Amino acid sequence: MTGGRTESAAETEAMAARLARELRPGDVVLVSGELGAGKTTFVRGACHELGVRSGVSSPTFTIGRRYEGQVPISHLDLYRLADLGDEDPALLDDYLRPDSISFVEWPEIARAAPLPERVRISHHVTLRHAGDDAREIEIEAGSGRPE
Ligand code: ADP
Ligand code: MG
Repeated sequence: MTGGRTESAAETEAMAARLARELRPGDVVLVSGELGAGKTTFVRGACHELGVRSGVSSPTFTIGRRYEGQVPISHLDLYRLADLGDEDPALLDDYLRPDSISFVEWPEIARAAPLPERVRISHHVTLRHAGDDAREIEIEAGSGRPE
C-alpha cells in the first residue's frame, strides 16, 4: 500500500479504509501533514472501516480519544503538546496499547518518546495539499513490524 492522489475527502477516507483492513492490534499509524491536509479525515475513514460508529474528530481537551470498533482504537493529536519532554512519559502508554490500533496526528512531537512494549509503528502516512480538494498521500510501511 503506497498511497496516491485523492480528489476529495471521501476519496481520502476510502484510501484510509483500504489501509485499515491491513491493521492489527498493537499497530500504530503515524499521520503527518500540515493543518488542513486531511489527517483527521484519513483517521475517520480508517476508524469507520474498523467499525467505529461514533463521530471521529480531533481530541480537543486531551491528547487522545478512545473508540470502540472491532478492536479498541486510539486517536491521538499531539499538536498542543509543545514538548513531550515536559509531560509524564506514561501519557502515551495509556493510548498506544497492544490490544488497540492507534492513529497519531502530529507524531513529530513525540519523536523522542519510547514506544510501549508490544506496540509497533506499522505505517507512516503523509498528506500534502495538491491544490483545491486534491491531496498527495504517501503511505510508508513501518520498520518495526514483525512478520
Ligand atoms: P487535519 O487533521 O490535517 O488538520 P482535517 O482532516 O481536519 O485536516 O481537514 C481537512 C479538510 O480538507 C476537511 O474539511 C476536508 O473535507 C477537506 N478536504 C478537501 N479535499 C480533501 C481531500 N482530498 N482529502 C482530505 N480532506 C480534504
Ligand atoms: Mg486533525
